Amino acid sequence: MNQNYTGMLYVVPTPIGNLLDITHRALEVLKKVNIIAAENIQHTNILLQHFNIKNYLISMNKDNEKKQSDHLIKELKKGKTIALVSNAGTPIINDPGNLLIKKCHNFNIQVIPLPGPCAAITALSASGLMYNRFCYEGFLPSKKTERQNLLYSLRKETRPIIFYETKYRILESMQDIIEQIDKNRYIVIAREITKKWESIYGATAISLLKWLKEEKNRYKGEIVIIIDGYKKLKNDTLNQKILDTFFILRNFCTLKTSVLITSKIHDFNKNNLYQYVIKNKNDKII
Ligand code: SAM
Repeated sequence: MNQNYTGMLYVVPTPIGNLLDITHRALEVLKKVNIIAAENIQHTNILLQHFNIKNYLISMNKDNEKKQSDHLIKELKKGKTIALVSNAGTPIINDPGNLLIKKCHNFNIQVIPLPGPCAAITALSASGLMYNRFCYEGFLPSKKTERQNLLYSLRKETRPIIFYETKYRILESMQDIIEQIDKNRYIVIAREITKKWESIYGATAISLLKWLKEEKNRYKGEIVIIIDGYKKLKNDTLNQKILDTFFILRNFCTLKTSVLITSKIHDFNKNNLYQYVIKNKNDKII
């Protein structure tokens, strides 16, 4: 059985722009721990200096995470306390540190999370798209085909979908959203949250892309995209377009094949279509 250690790892969120967003408890922990494991020492030093905190920092980023987490585990086993921080927001959320946390659990070392800033949740809270369910997808893939495949696979996701995005790819990603999801899907872009040029803007995908292209400043800085969830439309129940496809196919194929291909083309439930055509047999539609 694993021994219990007295060392503790604190997971400490830091501001995503506005330094006033740090909590009293986070400052207290950053002051008191033996070590601060920071994604970028210089970056965290600016925060510490602002709050007059002097403490011992070591770097832990995605390139040295494996080596550093072994070192930090040794320190925790000796009874040391460590605060894990990233450059901004909640560590782990598209930031390094998960390996260290997993190792802590393996060695029965207590992990204490502090609540605090996170760009995804902050953006969602002001988006008007929150229906008590959401999904978080982190950064969209940088490779076009991967990005398009992912977006296509999410086209019928009914929860709002949160993505992180950069100013370099936002226009391409919006174009992919239009092509793979729907040009009329409602999207919210939350930019530079908590900072001077904060903006939150929502529109259909096609209008949003047009709006972004009109003015470069509209996509400068850090960005969260929230895609509204798929809404079942009335014409998700059978519509004329679906029936037209069925009639054309029925001239060439069996009933079963026509139903199958039609339902595939329109992403429509094949049983519902089958039931409909059987019910309407007398109208000679089949
Ligand atoms: N751990 C962070 C968190 O809790 O939100 C996220 C880190 S991730 C490496 C950085 C991305 O988060 C940015 O590229 C951007 O998409 C988003 N982000 C961070 N700060 C933001 C802000 N102030 N406004 C909008 N998006 C932000």
